[in-house]
Amino acid sequence: MSTEPRTVTLATADRGTVTIPEPAWCAGHSPHDPETEYVDIIHSGPETSLTFRSVVLLAAGLVQSPHASPSAPHLGGRTPGVSVHPVGRTLGPVDLYELAAVLDTYADALRDLGDQLDALRGGQ
Ligand SMILES: [Zn+2]
Repeated sequence: MSTEPRTVTLATADRGTVTIPEPAWCAGHSPHDPETEYVDIIHSGPETSLTFRSVVLLAAGLVQSPHASPSAPHLGGRTPGVSVHPVGRTLGPVDLYELAAVLDTYADALRDLGDQLDALRGGQ
């Protein structure tokens, strides 16, 4: 296994072909739009999704925009984060733990509804 830093070479609309460091967690840039601006280059890791009966309810994955402006941190930025859909935000660790806690609470509420429905139907 190579000990050389991993890089990726990408076409950009404003700077031509650039070679930048590639994080080990990045899943790659295929397909890549050559009209992408340099500041809009984004590294993306594999997504993990919550799917129920073929409907994706929630999806999340590591992202980093290494050349982004810091003006809109909720849209991602130079610091790696986790992009969450359909929340439409890039979250940090504290936000992710908060989301996980909300999902735990929601799962309990679904079980309570299931119990209530079961009782309404006479336990059938
Ligand atoms: Zn990448």
